[in-house]
Amino acid sequence: MGTAVTQSPGRSHANGIQGLLFDALFQDMQEAAVLADPDRRIVRTNAAAEALFGYAAHELAGQRTAVLYANEDDFLEQGRRRFNPSAKPSHEGYRIAYRRKDGSTFPSETIGSTLRDETGAILGYLGIVRDLSEQSRIEACLHDLYAVSTDQQQGPTARIDAMLALGCDFFGLPLGIVSRIEDRVYTVAHVAAADPGPGVGDQFDLGQTYCWHTLAADDVVAFDHAGNSEITGHPCYRTFQLETYIGIPLLVDGVRHGTLNFSGWQPRSQPFSDSDREFMRLFARWIAFEISAQRAFRQIEAARARAEAADSTKSRFLATMSHELRTPITGVLGMIDLLETTDLQTEQAGYVRQIRECTQGLLALLNDVLDLSKIEADQLSLELVPTDVTALVRSVVATFSAAAAQKGVAIEVRAPAASLLVETDPTRLRQILLNLLSNAVKFTPHGQVTVALDLAETAAATAWLRLSVRDQGPGIPADQQEKIFEAFQQADPTVARRYGGTGLGLAISRRLARALDGDISVSSVPGQGATFSVALSVPLVDSDIAMAPAEASAQAHRAPALPEPGQTRPLRLLVAEDNSVNAMLLDAMLGRLGHRVTIVGDGVAAVEEATGLETYDAAIFDLQMPLMDGEQAARRIRAAGDPISRLPILALTADMVADCAQSCDLTPFDAFLTKPIDWQHLTATLARVVAEREAAEDGPTHAAQRPPGVHLPLLDRAQLDALAVSLGEGWVKSFVGEAAQTLADLGRAATDDAAAGRHQTATDHLHSLKGTALNLGAPRLAALADWLGRLTDGDDRPATGPDAAALRLFADTVDATVGALNDIAAPAETGSERRGHPG
Ligand code: ADP
Repeated sequence: MGTAVTQSPGRSHANGIQGLLFDALFQDMQEAAVLADPDRRIVRTNAAAEALFGYAAHELAGQRTAVLYANEDDFLEQGRRRFNPSAKPSHEGYRIAYRRKDGSTFPSETIGSTLRDETGAILGYLGIVRDLSEQSRIEACLHDLYAVSTDQQQGPTARIDAMLALGCDFFGLPLGIVSRIEDRVYTVAHVAAADPGPGVGDQFDLGQTYCWHTLAADDVVAFDHAGNSEITGHPCYRTFQLETYIGIPLLVDGVRHGTLNFSGWQPRSQPFSDSDREFMRLFARWIAFEISAQRAFRQIEAARARAEAADSTKSRFLATMSHELRTPITGVLGMIDLLETTDLQTEQAGYVRQIRECTQGLLALLNDVLDLSKIEADQLSLELVPTDVTALVRSVVATFSAAAAQKGVAIEVRAPAASLLVETDPTRLRQILLNLLSNAVKFTPHGQVTVALDLAETAAATAWLRLSVRDQGPGIPADQQEKIFEAFQQADPTVARRYGGTGLGLAISRRLARALDGDISVSSVPGQGATFSVALSVPLVDSDIAMAPAEASAQAHRAPALPEPGQTRPLRLLVAEDNSVNAMLLDAMLGRLGHRVTIVGDGVAAVEEATGLETYDAAIFDLQMPLMDGEQAARRIRAAGDPISRLPILALTADMVADCAQSCDLTPFDAFLTKPIDWQHLTATLARVVAEREAAEDGPTHAAQRPPGVHLPLLDRAQLDALAVSLGEGWVKSFVGEAAQTLADLGRAATDDAAAGRHQTATDHLHSLKGTALNLGAPRLAALADWLGRLTDGDDRPATGPDAAALRLFADTVDATVGALNDIAAPAETGSERRGHPG
């Protein structure tokens, strides 16, 4: 319905009491009002409208209202909708943008109505305009605040800082602070400052701050020109000289925390409005929420730090435990190996077998616990290599067949005859199958276990590798079928008693399967056996690629096998091992195999020994040793120069391969062995590295025929100088001259005897030559004499005796040493005499 008036809307017609009343109401209205004629030309505006649009009344009178619209289109649209004679009456506000005289625009809410006389004829239009600039500024700021508060990329501290910056923008002030107030001390907790302002952590006496007033009011306090306010005499104004300030107490989780405030050094052109105050209240709630979140965040961070510290303690503990437990177990297993090589009565042999089984069980458990903790700490390292899974399955089944058959259980393999080549981690896949198969055999009293393998190709390059193990055991009740995959869980409490086990196998297997991009599931009807199925998504492999060997070591499951003495040729071995039991074990076992072993207890001694007079065919170094670890010792040897630097060195450790591979560099080693020592493997490795070295050198010479000490100096002048000091220069000269002659004679005799096969006399000559050389300070010759002595009549003697090259080297060294000694005995004269009397 239109607004019916009895007068036409022009000022000239407003007369009488009604006219006066209309004038008064129209002029004093808080809202801006614009009166227009039926043609939409402005007839009259009130003071609020003139202030809002920035025009004087006469500037607007007679203009079309289009002058007030920000967009011409809106003017036309509103004409069609409501400012026309047939428009339906409406008092609903609509949003529209207007333009001020200075060109700036502002959003508004307008109520537009038609004015009609009693007959319904149109008299004009009235628009009542409310400025929404302030409201939309608040809305925009709230929108930004919302965006900040939901930004999960940032932590609460960054969010509070961003909110303070928004507040500074909103109020147009350079300084925003969140303070923490405790015991009258004001601490800056967060700050946004355009200029260098206070910093986080700065502290002030609360009584000196503007916030003292805020806390006293317990609500928003605002000054738009403090110098003109009641606080000019207060210390806060005297100290900080801030003209503009708006602040509010902060309540966090219902407890007073501090304040939120914005301030600046200039007075504010506009006083703070009620909307500003309301906005501060809203802002304070938002900030309080973030502070509360910040607290929770810090608590969580602290808890996480504690958990991480505990986790790293656990990892360190496990690493230490790995070494400390595996080392003695290695010793025990080794001693059992040795014990079994002695003559045992049947009863004793039975006891020894029992000890072996218990010890192997202990080692398997230790490995399981370490495996599981490594998987849980995300430290499992996979080695994906091309693998023939058919061969792998058959080899795992082979390790079980004998034990299963003894129990009356047959193992059937259903796998394609041809190789199935995929990329996977063979060690881990083997571990999964070993677990499943050992359970199947363990739980099946008699009957059959079936292992099935197939490959379902999915895309061109990948496939599902499906492996299942079906048994005829008691089966697993439905409610237990998930539980058994948890660590330390067994289907029922009697299992451990009847079958043993710890409940770790399936937990590890499932985690391994998941790490290998697959899973394990079980289906079972109690009383009718169980089927465990593994499905892994695997890349297919080109059949030309070299396969991982199907026969990897499975120590805990393998029956011990000791190499027979005489299986390989005797070697000179240097063993560095600090654990006395293991040292004894290595000495005894390697000795039993026919090798000659020198044992040292630390890395420093190992380097000394390897670079000394003795020549070794190979060395075995424990990685963890006092004074110098195995890796460092091996590096020193590699840097010692030929031929010592080419000494084959095996690393030996009680740690798991993966652990060690992460923590130490194995490059200076020729091979890597873990404890407990697999003697077959050690024997084969030794043979391999020695053969490799010989192949790399001048052909297959007897290793012992490689001369030692050729890197030693011909003469050790320090030793001769010491002799000169104690015995006198003259005596030394005559002694050296005589001794040189003796060396020359002994050398010739020894070479002749050795060449003629007179071993005993050759050895005797060499022995006294070695003594003389040592006394004279001729270490290279001493080393060669010792070496030739062993080749001639010692343990190292090759079938054919010392070869021609060895004898030639020896003779040359004798000549060089004698020449050098003669130079010392009679340097100038002897030299010139010799030159005068050649031959
Ligand atoms: P463990 O065999 O050392 O107890 P596992 O994790 O391998 O640990 O197995 C957990 C439990 O699952 C076993 O104790 C047993 O109760 C049940 N289980 C595993 N395999 C079979 C099976 N083939 N038949 C029946 N029960 C089984």
